Amino acid sequence: MFDLPVVPIGYVQHRNPMWKRKSINKYTSKGREEIHRNLKGLDLNILFYLMRNPIQNCSIEYNDNRISLYSGQMGKCAVTGRRLILEEIHCHHKIPKHLKGDDGYPNLTIIHVNVHRLVHAVHTDTIQRLLNALQLTEYQIRRVNNLRKLCELAPIKVN
Ligand SMILES: [Zn+2]
Repeated sequence: MFDLPVVPIGYVQHRNPMWKRKSINKYTSKGREEIHRNLKGLDLNILFYLMRNPIQNCSIEYNDNRISLYSGQMGKCAVTGRRLILEEIHCHHKIPKHLKGDDGYPNLTIIHVNVHRLVHAVHTDTIQRLLNALQLTEYQIRRVNNLRKLCELAPIKVN
């Protein structure tokens, strides 16, 4: 289950200074080149951004695992399998903190921002709006419901 690719930290530190002046930019061919430079399909620009910009008010363990999971999931949403852009990356506690969930790797997962909203949504219209936006398959909705169950929220019913 956990035989996931691990980013070689030595490699990252070695490469890091060379990347400093470059930026993620989808509007120039050079910028696009940067976006597509990768390690086995992993977007290193995003990985470095996550490393440099930890979530404030979250533990070091959480932030380390957020990076490991982004890498382990090859930059994809655990529910939809879609490759995530920076703004879409959310790191969710499977068992929420208020239910005594911890910041360990097995308790975290990287999901799309709207999938994350759907996992926590309680109002019918919010749920419907997110379902319309996401167009999930039955299987993906089951996965959302598995995550909702861990949060002690009722499953989403679709006709
Ligand atoms: Zn969450």
